[in-house]
Amino acid sequence: MAEPRLVYADNAATTRVDPRVLEKMLPFFSVDYGNASTLYKLGQRSHAALEEARKNVAAVIGAKPGEIFFTGSGTEADNMALRGMMHSKQAKGRKHLITTTFEHPAVLQTARALEKEGFRVTYVPVDRTGTVDLQALEDAICEDTVLVSVMAANNEIGTIQPIAEIGRICRSKGVYFHTDAVQAYGHMPLNVDEMNIDMLSLSAHKICGPKGVGAIYIRSGLMLDPVITGGGQEKNRRSGTENVPGIVGLGEAARIKLEGMEQENERLRKMQRRLIDGVLSSVPECALTGHPENRLPGSCSFTFTAVEGESLVLLLDMKGICASTGSACSTGSLDPSHVLMAIGLSHETSHGSLRLSLGEFNTEEDVDYILQELPGVVARLRAMSPVWKG
Ligand SMILES: *Cc1c(COP(=O)(O)O)cnc(C)c1O
Repeated sequence: MAEPRLVYADNAATTRVDPRVLEKMLPFFSVDYGNASTLYKLGQRSHAALEEARKNVAAVIGAKPGEIFFTGSGTEADNMALRGMMHSKQAKGRKHLITTTFEHPAVLQTARALEKEGFRVTYVPVDRTGTVDLQALEDAICEDTVLVSVMAANNEIGTIQPIAEIGRICRSKGVYFHTDAVQAYGHMPLNVDEMNIDMLSLSAHKICGPKGVGAIYIRSGLMLDPVITGGGQEKNRRSGTENVPGIVGLGEAARIKLEGMEQENERLRKMQRRLIDGVLSSVPECALTGHPENRLPGSCSFTFTAVEGESLVLLLDMKGICASTGSACSTGSLDPSHVLMAIGLSHETSHGSLRLSLGEFNTEEDVDYILQELPGVVARLRAMSPVWKG
């Protein structure tokens, strides 16, 4: 019997490690296992590998290697940016943070935690396409504002934010600008100087690198309180023995992304166009969520009337298609996605959401297969639905 088909279309959740990345990592488990902080040659080889990775990670965003600090995840990088910056300015009486309503939980929940500590947070709205309201953002900046944090591209609906404009507003008002670029890094051009970005979060496993390693860019000279204290690694900004194999993997993944970004994005855009157009034309009562053009090249997200997103994901899984939904989430709660709520969808509509995110290892055949299977799966669910009137 032939292998059952597997079409992985959930690259916004995580990605498969590129074989070149894996190969580069392997010696650092077995041969070059030295602690990067030690003086002998074995440790110095680990140290050199970290510095090479730092250079490659920095190059993707036009930063200097010395402005890159490795972390244990994108989530940790977001925590460092928000907690580290807000805590460091607390003594001066500045207690205001601005973010948006549709950030990743790594930012949103950190903002909520800061509110509990007594910080003031403004959540700026986004429009129907998932684009932040620039006027509302500018109006929210006041005397005691320390930091603005807006994600570069959204993980659920793929919308890309006007990062350069936000950077310009923040710079002109004298407040710091952090962007959660975990989805955007390596998938679209970013330049920290041209875009006036002061801090930027990224993660290896969204760019065909390993899980459990990330990094933060911090503009040189910017002081933050450390979130993790200890042995003083990463210039005292993030203590803990460095995850050398993971960091080597992140560096190699970044190098590969930078080298092939333009070509890969062109390939993804073609598949994205075909998948979006194909779904919209073959499934009745279906809508695209997010911005029609201004979106990440692999991101395709929809809502289907009278369909339960979780059922859709489970039936697609039976066909060998990995996708995700923002309807009821992994926590088992029945709350629909805060992102879909933030762009103004009703509870009912957002329960029928589906995200298909394409990546490096997807092919045109994958798109064919999804287009072949999805309309039937939706029709099957609707046939069982008490609310479907089609
Ligand atoms: C995945 C993701 C994160 C979290 O990164 P981890 O490395 O998984 O902790 C944060 N923000 C966005 C936008 C993401 O997509």
